[in-house]
Amino acid sequence: MDKENCVVQSDPVTGLPNRFAFLKALDDELHGSNGEAKGAVMVIDLDNFQLVNETYGLRVGDEALCQIAENIANFMPPDVLLYKLDVDQFCLFWPEAMPEEMAIVYSSLQLSLREIPAIADKIYCTATAGVAMYPTDGTDADTLLKHARAAKTIARLEGGDRIGLFEQNAYEAWKYTVIMQGLMKTSIARGCENFFLYFQPQVHADTGKLYGAEALLRWRSESGEILPPLEFIPILEKTRLIIPAGHWIIEEAVKACKKWQKYLPDFQMSINISLYQLEEQMLCAFVEDCLQRYEMEPKSIVLELTEGQSVSNWDFVNEQFAAFRRLGIQIAMDDFGTGYATLNFLKRFECDLIKLDRFVIEDILDSEFNQNLVKYSIKLCHSLGYEVCVEGVEEAEVYHFLRDECKADAIQGFYFGRPEPEEIFEKRLIQQ
Ligand code: C2E
Ligand code: MG
Ligand code: MG
Repeated sequence: MDKENCVVQSDPVTGLPNRFAFLKALDDELHGSNGEAKGAVMVIDLDNFQLVNETYGLRVGDEALCQIAENIANFMPPDVLLYKLDVDQFCLFWPEAMPEEMAIVYSSLQLSLREIPAIADKIYCTATAGVAMYPTDGTDADTLLKHARAAKTIARLEGGDRIGLFEQNAYEAWKYTVIMQGLMKTSIARGCENFFLYFQPQVHADTGKLYGAEALLRWRSESGEILPPLEFIPILEKTRLIIPAGHWIIEEAVKACKKWQKYLPDFQMSINISLYQLEEQMLCAFVEDCLQRYEMEPKSIVLELTEGQSVSNWDFVNEQFAAFRRLGIQIAMDDFGTGYATLNFLKRFECDLIKLDRFVIEDILDSEFNQNLVKYSIKLCHSLGYEVCVEGVEEAEVYHFLRDECKADAIQGFYFGRPEPEEIFEKRLIQQ
């Protein structure tokens, strides 16, 4: 269908003019007033409309769409036209409108959706809207529509059933995530190209002697910049790419551990595992196979469960980790004291080792209260039968306090070494 034909077309269900008509009318508006046009573009997307079609059929869906379209039009001044963008998306531009007016229109729409006759007693229907203002957020129709839609998508990611105004910073952050998802996917498809592991020393608290390392993931961007995991692990988790990446991480970490046991036979490797990785039922079998291939004793491996997500099914998590523990692998609770890693976690999660988060100890020298908090947290863990590794130790004084007063078992922190590339860690190990 050529563009000219599309322009004259209207949506067969509602009779509203379509996207092409919208873009043309908006372009005319923008060019008609010597570039001085001001106003708002709004996109309205029904959040769960497919449920209407799937549950009650297309006829009810079509009727509801017509009633919704009529409702939106009723909230607008008579000269503002409504257009149909997609199956359940509408859009409009309102010359001279301010963001506050768009918010009022949206609120009226939000309320009216509860009363759409065709679906009122059937489905709780909501809508998410995105607004871009002209000329500030764009000076051509394509850009304005793109930005209004992006504002809508971001508002939906925040839970939907709300209106979002285009905001350049939020848009850049969202675009970054979308682009990163693509880059991560390509990297992983190419055998985890550009991913690599850093290793941070772990030492016995009483002697300060190195006994192992934590493997920490990094990713190198095209420009050569090395990204820390907090910038991409959430993306890997959300897309479940953490599952194939996790295999690679385990394989590489076990390989390095094997190599370093030549220098230190009891060398231990800690590997981070996020809850998403447990969704893969075969993870335990994969780890077992990996250990066999490298002839590695299971006790050399510690799996650290990183918090970051609340656990809804403890039985499932404990079953998975029980399988690892039966093999002889040790399990650690990471980041204890922050986020979701709380007393509740301690009560429900069956593990061998607790890693005290660095935020718990960062201001330990400031007050006796802070010192007591750490000291008695460690005491609590010990009395429950767990070993404790304290993270984030940067100063000698803190180390001495943790060693002498708190009787911590292990220390990991910049004071003993930062996360470093494999070759550099290896030199450290050989020289110690
Ligand atoms: P984590 O597992 O708690 O790892 C410790 C983090 O604390 C590391 O940050 C390390 O660089 C940092 N750290 C250690 N000692 C100090 C210190 O003395 N001072 C300060 N300021 N920081 C210290 P990193 O490497 O940025 O990793 C952040 C988080 O990303 C990790 O926290 C872990 O939750 C996650 N992560 C890293 N690698 C992986 C991985 O391979 N898989 C999964 N699922 N998550 C990973
Ligand atoms: Mg960790
Ligand atoms: Mg940690």
